[in-house]
Amino acid sequence: MGVSDIKYKLRTKLSLSYLLITLFCVGAISIFANIFLEKQFREYVIKNQDSKNKEILNMITNEYFKNGKWNYDDISSIGMNALEGGVIIKVKDVQSKTIWDATVHNSGLCNQMITHMSQNMNSRYGDFEGKYTETTYPIMNILKQVGTLQIGYYGPFYFDDNDLRFINTLNYFLIGIALFSFVISLLLGTIMSRRLSSPISRVISSSKMISNGYFEDRITQKSNIIEIHDLISTINNLAETFKNQDKLRKRLTSDMAHELRTPLTTLQSHFEAMIDGVWEPNVERIKSCHEEILRINRMVGDLENLAKIESENIVLDKTEFDLSELTQKIIMNFESDFAKKNIEIIYKGKEQFINADKDKISQVLINLLSNVLKYTGEGGRVNVTISGIKNKVKITVKDTGEGISEEDLPYIFERFYRVDKSRNRLTGGSGIGLTIVKAIVDAHNGSIKVNSKIGEGTEFIVELLKD
Ligand code: ADP
Repeated sequence: MGVSDIKYKLRTKLSLSYLLITLFCVGAISIFANIFLEKQFREYVIKNQDSKNKEILNMITNEYFKNGKWNYDDISSIGMNALEGGVIIKVKDVQSKTIWDATVHNSGLCNQMITHMSQNMNSRYGDFEGKYTETTYPIMNILKQVGTLQIGYYGPFYFDDNDLRFINTLNYFLIGIALFSFVISLLLGTIMSRRLSSPISRVISSSKMISNGYFEDRITQKSNIIEIHDLISTINNLAETFKNQDKLRKRLTSDMAHELRTPLTTLQSHFEAMIDGVWEPNVERIKSCHEEILRINRMVGDLENLAKIESENIVLDKTEFDLSELTQKIIMNFESDFAKKNIEIIYKGKEQFINADKDKISQVLINLLSNVLKYTGEGGRVNVTISGIKNKVKITVKDTGEGISEEDLPYIFERFYRVDKSRNRLTGGSGIGLTIVKAIVDAHNGSIKVNSKIGEGTEFIVELLKD
């Protein structure tokens, strides 16, 4: 099973992710601070204690050196100072006779200090196993030992009030950062998810409208997230395409009804006139009826042709042939028709071998040239060129005909689309010539482009792969 069946809102999912990331980061920092920093701090405290001890030892040694003997008052003042700094000292001479002892001097304060240190450590560690410890140092005068110094403190190490305050502040600080990060992550999560989910919700509502057949809705919302921006423009384009298709479908139905209605009405009125005896059924009239039937037949033929093309599985029968030679042959077949309309046809092109379906490519050329013939007036001109570019061949058919308006240009490849319906009836076109051209070109993985200006002429450019 890949994705779980439980569905979350994007907002919930994103906010939760932000919170989890924050939780992880703050947790990692706290663990790091508590384990690593505290270890460093403990080492610092132990080192500090050591240097404090050495300092006291130095002071006592110097005192002895200065006098050459033990002086109770001087040692007492050092001892008192040390006691105020939280260190309990005991000084003895070489005979182990006590010279000064803090516990004797002020046993109340000493006990109070030890209890306080123990309280400090237990408040921090709960079950801290510490006790009063003593370190003994020999007091040396040059190379001779003159006594011993015992330094007592709470061990193996202890935090005084300042140290504890420092550690606690660090922890409060971390808790503060954690709370602050949670609030920020919740806020950011909400803002980000709103930014993401609001255009997505909009896209969903627009898609629903499209699926209900309403194609007018466009999303105007902007997003600086590339994927969302693309999604919005894709949906807008989709709506536009559907709208155009819908317009075309409606137009196609009315076009077809219109196309069929005209010959049928003519036939009906002719027959009714003959039945009523208004008209003599002579050869001429029957011929005219026959022409209308031919017209209907041609239309049905076109429809069949189109259905075949639109089934989208045009089978290509590819062979290697010279496109230039084929084009010239087709032009030759058109020559008399062009001559009748006094249209000049100019061909330019050298040998160009391509691997394609010869019959279908002939159909492309025939359709393009018959359009030129239909839509170019007397005295016009058409240039047909075949040229090779790298692995492609380009066919250009450029006429000086009536041209196509910008409005109609996007639709000329659509089924049954004709620019001027009444005019087309005279020319016999049914609006599928270019649809077939495009389908054949597409089947060859080629491309077709059209440039046109009304009153100036039209240029069709077809590009086909040589192989
Ligand atoms: P039709 O059978 O009506 O010619 P097509 O699909 O071949 O149908 O062409 C569609 C429409 O495009 C035509 O009705 C015509 O208005 C326009 N058209 C095509 N080729 C040309 C051209 N060379 N010059 C001007 N208009 C053209």
